[in-house]
Amino acid sequence: MKQRPHNIYIHVPYCKSKCRYCAFFSHACAEPDWENYTNSICKEIVFWANKLNHNTVPTIFFGGGTPSLIPQKYMEQILNTIRQNFLIENNAEITLEANPATIDAIKLHDFQSMGINRLSVGVQRLNDEELRFLGRAHNAHDAVELICIAQDLNLRVSADFIYGIPDDTEQSVKNLCRQINNLGLTHCSLYELTIEENTPFGKMNLNMPSNDEMATMYQSITKNLDLPRYEVSNYATSENQCRHNSNIWNGEPYIGIGKGAAGRILIDGIWYEQKGNAEVFNPLTEKERAIEKILTGLRTIRGCQLTQDIKNVIDIDWVKKHPQFIQISDNTIRTTGDGMLILDNLITNVVK
Ligand code: SF4
Repeated sequence: MKQRPHNIYIHVPYCKSKCRYCAFFSHACAEPDWENYTNSICKEIVFWANKLNHNTVPTIFFGGGTPSLIPQKYMEQILNTIRQNFLIENNAEITLEANPATIDAIKLHDFQSMGINRLSVGVQRLNDEELRFLGRAHNAHDAVELICIAQDLNLRVSADFIYGIPDDTEQSVKNLCRQINNLGLTHCSLYELTIEENTPFGKMNLNMPSNDEMATMYQSITKNLDLPRYEVSNYATSENQCRHNSNIWNGEPYIGIGKGAAGRILIDGIWYEQKGNAEVFNPLTEKERAIEKILTGLRTIRGCQLTQDIKNVIDIDWVKKHPQFIQISDNTIRTTGDGMLILDNLITNVVK
């Protein structure tokens, strides 16, 4: 049976060093066993290609960890294995997350010749003192240089930033937005710093901005950044929104490959939750799937269409009583700017 196109996410769990705020599934490793890791990834790719009848792939996303650490020959092996087992769309978006301390012009050019056409650079801040405080393995110059190299290569370029670090104010976030505007990016992400237990920051008793101060900073981003928001933390021109993430937020299926990956697979009309191990995947009920679609849809400006499965699980009376946070139009529910500030609470209330 012909299966729906599936996006592919490939997780690479290794980093040059561990950032002090990071709670992602990743670890610092001087010399990863790339051969072993690549072989296990390729095995999973073949497994899913067989399960999904060698279907079409609209996007591939290498995330981490730090996928820009992968040596060229292993990247080639992974992409060739996908090509040999799936039908990659002609205009597929193929993104690589990159830490500026791990990739130079030659390596990036090699990756581009293998099919990578979008780079997502982990910049975080454009001030060396702040980068040292965050425990980043690069300085601001490295980050700007990598963005320029990628732009010269005509790759689509995005960059990640963090706001809400100790001592941040509305003014410092405004300055950060001005610095970002000067980079000529068509896509960027700005994430609020959250302190997670079991990280160095989690043990440091940092003097963090209050919730109100964080909210003011968040609102100042839309006022000062040249790019419009299209998801709670993502900003882009309309033609440069991340297709991979947009597909997932829009409820399209995706395969998660690699130890820290998760996926949502659709086989013969049944949705499955899949985590880090190709051979283990469990069916989702219609209700679980509908709730997931609400969770991701409400994060986006596009919103969540009120199809019957969604109507079955939302508290429509609550929605109608809170137009300041959530609105209905064109048979779609959408989070307002104020709603984005309380997204977690909002979702708890919207779902019955
Ligand atoms: S580079 Fe990314 S994944 Fe690696 S430790 Fe830093 S924040 Fe975490």
